[in-house]
Amino acid sequence: MQVPARFEYEVAGSVREAVELLERYGEGARLIAGGHSLIPMMKLRLAAPEVVVDISGLDSELRYIEDEGEALRIGALTRHREVLESPVVRERYTLLADAERMIADPLVRNMGTIGGDLANADPAEDLPAAFVALDSEVVVRGTNGERTVHIDDLYVGPYETSLDHGEVLTEVRVPRSPGGSAYSKVKRKTGDYAAAAIGVALSMGGDEIESIRIGLCGVGSRTLRASGAEDALTGERPGSEAYSRAGEIAAEECDPIEDAKGSVEYKRDLVRVLLGRTVARAVERASGREV
Ligand code: FAD
Repeated sequence: MQVPARFEYEVAGSVREAVELLERYGEGARLIAGGHSLIPMMKLRLAAPEVVVDISGLDSELRYIEDEGEALRIGALTRHREVLESPVVRERYTLLADAERMIADPLVRNMGTIGGDLANADPAEDLPAAFVALDSEVVVRGTNGERTVHIDDLYVGPYETSLDHGEVLTEVRVPRSPGGSAYSKVKRKTGDYAAAAIGVALSMGGDEIESIRIGLCGVGSRTLRASGAEDALTGERPGSEAYSRAGEIAAEECDPIEDAKGSVEYKRDLVRVLLGRTVARAVERASGREV
């Protein structure tokens, strides 16, 4: 199918109005921001909302990147391109710049929003894994007011978040700038989703990895955190032995399926290899040696 099912269209004039519209129309209503995930799904009839609530005009409320020193706040309507071009992201949140550089193509990056990417909960989308590594939380607004949800609690399944139906994701917050961070992705060609991708954010204490978070993309039914690999690396001196041990653990922790991007074993092998490569890059960056 290339034509969406019939739907009603409402334009929200504010976040408050978006929440009201979602409440008024109930489960049949769906937000639309950049439309780069929702419209293809509607055309394929994988989604058939009765009412589409357009929030794309809410730039004054939801489109910003604010650096508060101890935290970075990114509004939900910020475009991929704006994150990629942000000086603070390039300088201090290098993992995000790495990830954005490899997301889709310039057309998608000009229109696709951060909020749409996070709320869509596609396990093959890069930003959820990037924000998992960055220990982030999202801010959401609904009829009961505002609350925050830690990224570890956001993804419950493919295309499924823990947000209530009537909630609008308004912001993502990254609590602090990590010592060093990096993102690596293997895809078949430009514009493709990942066969496998890994985000790493870490802090060094002397010669040892003091703390580390690892997000995995494309190798499970939801975005995953490689906690076993994190434990294996915490307190360790960086090096090929530690990386290969952690890579083996991460390859076991993930749960890929066979599809056009590769076999299960191929994807586990990508995780094994990418893990060491990405941690090594983050360590280099933490040590002030940019790579
Ligand atoms: P929309 O399509 O408008 O919405 C997506 C979903 O999120 C809908 O369910 C909608 O109801 C919900 N939603 C939107 N905004 C909010 C909000 N503020 N609060 C709550 N719910 C909300 N992504 C990658 O990560 N890596 C890739 O390599 C990649 N490649 C792509 C290639 C192509 C050709 C295309 C079309 C997309 C690709 N994407 C990729 C996905 C792209 O990043 C997303 O489509 C985009 O960021 C989603 O944002 P949007 O504003 O278009 O969301």
